[in-house]
Amino acid sequence: MYLKAGELHGHYCPGLAIGVRAGAEALRILEVEKKGFNLYCIAENRACYQDGIQMVFGTTLGDGNLELRQRGKTAFNFYDRDTGKSVRLVMSDWPKKSDRKEMAEFILSAPLEQVFAQTPVHFDAPPNTFTRHESRKCPRCGEFCSEPFLRVVDGEIVCLDCAES
Ligand SMILES: [Zn+2]
Ligand SMILES: [Zn+2]
Repeated sequence: MYLKAGELHGHYCPGLAIGVRAGAEALRILEVEKKGFNLYCIAENRACYQDGIQMVFGTTLGDGNLELRQRGKTAFNFYDRDTGKSVRLVMSDWPKKSDRKEMAEFILSAPLEQVFAQTPVHFDAPPNTFTRHESRKCPRCGEFCSEPFLRVVDGEIVCLDCAES
């Protein structure tokens, strides 16, 4: 996974390794059975970690389930909103290694307690509001539009563009 994450991230670095390890440990600790919109992560610092989280834990900026709340800490709050389980992993200390490759290896392979401490989460995760809406074809413009954006105008169900024009 670290290798694959490097493709997304563009390079290999200890920061990426932190995200990969944290994501993997979170999946194990939360006993995640299904990776989807049930999962949520709040990172407390902006750094290379995020790409590791995206790759391994599976929450992404693209699906809106990876959030940043800047606290300047190498810490991650992980949630499974289906089961209600959560955990926060906070980096114990930067390993005292001279070279970055060794540091990344340590982060990926050392016993968990040497890399992260586990604490209760510091934030509540927002509810999982993702629902898949049906789309229908608007009879006026012929374009498909999802249900929340359809309006009834003169007895016809039309898209918002047509409803407003
Ligand atoms: Zn990096
Ligand atoms: Zn229309």
